[in-house]
Formats: sequence, structure tokens, C-alpha cells
Amino acid sequence: MFASSPFSDLLHHAGLWLRGYAIVLVMMAIGAALERRRPIELLQSRSAQRLNIVYAAIYTAIVEGLRPLTAAATVAIVNGLGGGMVVLASHGWGALASFVIVLLTIDVLEYAFHRLQHTWPLLWKLHSLHHSALDLNVTVTLRHHWLEALIKGCLMYPLVGVLFKVDPVIVGATTFVFMIGNYFVHLNLRVDLGRYTIWVNNPQFHRLHHSSRPEHFDHNFTQLLPLWDHLFGTLWIPAKHEWPATGLDDGVQPRSLFSALSWPLRMHAGRPTALDGKPVAILDKESK
Ligand SMILES: [Zn+2]
Ligand SMILES: [Zn+2]
Repeated sequence: MFASSPFSDLLHHAGLWLRGYAIVLVMMAIGAALERRRPIELLQSRSAQRLNIVYAAIYTAIVEGLRPLTAAATVAIVNGLGGGMVVLASHGWGALASFVIVLLTIDVLEYAFHRLQHTWPLLWKLHSLHHSALDLNVTVTLRHHWLEALIKGCLMYPLVGVLFKVDPVIVGATTFVFMIGNYFVHLNLRVDLGRYTIWVNNPQFHRLHHSSRPEHFDHNFTQLLPLWDHLFGTLWIPAKHEWPATGLDDGVQPRSLFSALSWPLRMHAGRPTALDGKPVAILDKESK
């Protein structure tokens, strides 16, 4: 067994970064190929997509770089609170039940955090970057502020470790399902699931959450299962031909990498402002 050295640590982290980029590239390539088959919107801004891709590259680098910090926070929280209150099975049918339990737990936590993102002004400053996309497509999937990933990594996901002692393979399997689901729901893909549309989150169901129409605001928060929206009174069942326009209600969105990266600093009272405090709604407004 080789002893760990700074060089081997560096190689290890470089490998994780490369793996992170490879996953993003593969998922975006598959998503783009699917979107060409049956798009919801035929004409979408190429420049917005390019901006999203460059932003996703920076976001991925930061999130991968934060992993040691979130891992250390998880260990500290789980150990501090005496983690693993319930021991979940890791073999046979018991493993399948464990997978479902962890999946449901993470999904309801994601639902709760997402509602907070729309309720607490500070979290909305971060989350509104994601909602500012006028064109919804696979490149929007990672258009999140890195602080959101840090908050979830340090505070939300450790809760699962506090609640359950579970095989990491099972946690990894749920992470995979959430990753696929996250890319899927942002696709510019006309998928009609009919009456099954409220069984699992999908491009039409999530599009309602991104809608720029006020009557759709604060609905369809779920990440995976619309069950939570149904239970907590935030369900909007999309009509067959309901594919609304998306974005913030005033159509403001970042048009440069700098304005995307500084977005939360420029948000004031629900509207982005320049760093000197002047409104930039007109500057950043882009008609479709
Ligand atoms: Zn949202
Ligand atoms: Zn979204």
C-alpha cells in the first residue's frame, strides 16, 4: 500500500475533476441530441446556451473543488449528532427497500429546500439565477450558484447520514437517479406523459415551475416525485398543451459571464441591480 502524498492527493482530485467534467459533457451531449428530435421551442438563443455551458464549466470546477469541504462537514455533523440512527439493509430485497427509503428522504429534503429558496430572500438571490433562463434546455441544468451546492452539501445531505446508516453504494445509486432526473426535467423536449405526468417530474411538469406567468409561481417544486407537491398543496397539473414561456416575470437575465457570476450581488428587492445599485433590468433584458 502506498502512503498518501500531496502529489497523489493532487492526482486523485484531478481525476475527480476530470470525471465531473466527463459526466457533464456526456449528459449535455445526450440531452442536446434528444432535444433535436422533438423540441418544445424551435428557436432558442445560441449565445445564451454558450453562456450556460461556460458557466457550467466554472460551476463544475468550483463544486468539485468544494467536495473535500462538504465531505469533512458531513463527517463532523454525522459524528457530532451520533449519526446512523436507523440501520438500513444492504443485501437482497432489503437493499431495494433501503434504496427507496433514501430516495424518498432526499427527495422530500430537496422539496423543502427548494421551497425555502423561493421563500427566503437571501436564497432567492442565489436561486433566481436558475430561474432567469428565458430558454429552458439541457444547458440550464447546472445554472446554479455554487453557494447553493455548498449549503446543501454542508447542511442538507448530512441529515441523511444522521438519519441512516446505509451502504454508500445505495446512496450512490440514488445520487445517479437524481442526476439523470435533473438533466431530464430541463430538456427542451416535448414529452407527453399523459396522466402519468404527475407520477414523475418531467420537462413539462418542471417547465411550469420555470414559467414566467404569475399564476404558475410557487408550484411544482419537486425534484423527482410530484407526490410532495400534491401532499403540500403546490401541485399544478399541466394541461395537455400547456408549455408556457419561462424566465423571471420581467424577463431579466444575465447576458455575460460576469453578470451571471455576480448575479446574487446585483439582486436587490427581487430585481438585479448594477454593482453601484442602479437597476439593470433594461440593460439585461432580452426579447425572445
Ligand atoms: Zn425554483
Ligand atoms: Zn429548474
